[in-house]
Amino acid sequence: MKVEYSYLLEQFKVEESETKVKYVDLSKQANVEAILSDIKEVLLKTGQFTLGQPVADFESRFAKLCKTKYAIGVNSGTDALILALKALNIGSGDEVITAPNSFIATAGAIAVTGAKPVFVDVDDEYNIDADLIEKSITPQTKAIMPVHLTGNPADMPRIMEIADKHNLHVIEDACQAVSALINGKPAGSFGIAGAFSFHPLKNLNVWGDGGMVTTDSKELYEKLLLLRNHGLKGRDEVEFFAYNSRLDTLQAIVANQLLNVLDAITDARIRNAKRYDDALSDMADYVTIPPRKGNVKQVYHTYVILAKERDRLGSYLAEKGIETKVHYPIPIHLQKASKYLGYKEGDFPVCEVQTKSILTLPVHQHLTDDQVEYVIDNIRKFYKEA
Ligand SMILES: *Cc1c(COP(=O)(O)O)cnc(C)c1O
Repeated sequence: MKVEYSYLLEQFKVEESETKVKYVDLSKQANVEAILSDIKEVLLKTGQFTLGQPVADFESRFAKLCKTKYAIGVNSGTDALILALKALNIGSGDEVITAPNSFIATAGAIAVTGAKPVFVDVDDEYNIDADLIEKSITPQTKAIMPVHLTGNPADMPRIMEIADKHNLHVIEDACQAVSALINGKPAGSFGIAGAFSFHPLKNLNVWGDGGMVTTDSKELYEKLLLLRNHGLKGRDEVEFFAYNSRLDTLQAIVANQLLNVLDAITDARIRNAKRYDDALSDMADYVTIPPRKGNVKQVYHTYVILAKERDRLGSYLAEKGIETKVHYPIPIHLQKASKYLGYKEGDFPVCEVQTKSILTLPVHQHLTDDQVEYVIDNIRKFYKEA
């Protein structure tokens, strides 16, 4: 079987030489000199390449950011989800409720533990519809895994209420939501565990893969320390068979430097989103922006609109040198991977309708005001000409 990776580049393809507004700009990294100097001073001098002091520092700073007692660095956001499920003994025979419109890793993490992902439709904020959760709870349900899609937290107060009533665990997929808040309370601090990703496309990015689990539970924390490191209690004693999912020291060095500028990254994304919101609210016949709640701080991992004639708009913007994306063109319940779960088209109407019109505009922290204006102007032009 040939595995194709070019899909990452092909959607609404813009020639490199013509690009005026990139979807992301990974060539621009914050604090590069400081990171390289830390690598020389800390990494190469200590010769400690996995875990070590930089990981411990990052974990304690990250726990503080999320207002949780503990944070455990792991290999990726996906591993953060898998290990959190494993730490809660969730696996074969269990069901975990989640959203069908996430990145595939959410359902994938549930499935690889042996548990069954059970999907619930989403609301007009692209998040799991809390009103529909209870209908999907069965005697096998062990947990709810809400996703804070786009960096907008799901309705955690409601979800925690439902979970408490039915005695279910909540694991937040906060991979897109570092620094997001509901009533001042951070994403990743509501459930028994929160999972974060530091993939290069995420708001707080490292130079490869990295992830974190947050929790207030000492028991879970101690289990996760073992789960990420072969079940090793010390050098030679193994409590139970487990994984190698340590966070690299090098990535923690990068993360510690990026954490110093996270507020600036978040503020720039919020400012860009606000400019889009203001301009696009004049185009309500063509473009729908999700509701924005006053008590919520969204961090705009992505800026997603519902657009009339989405595919034509995407191609038009590509012609103007503007990169856009669709997150995601095929909902998880309709993926080949989900076939054994028995879902069909029509099962999640809100998600499926959104899938046909969602478009992600560039919102990253390196955009200039002129670039944001250029995107807005071209969306306006497209609908005028249409
Ligand atoms: C990125 C992401 C993940 C997976 O994170 P990785 O670090 O790439 O493994 C999981 N869930 C969501 C919602 C994500 O956006």
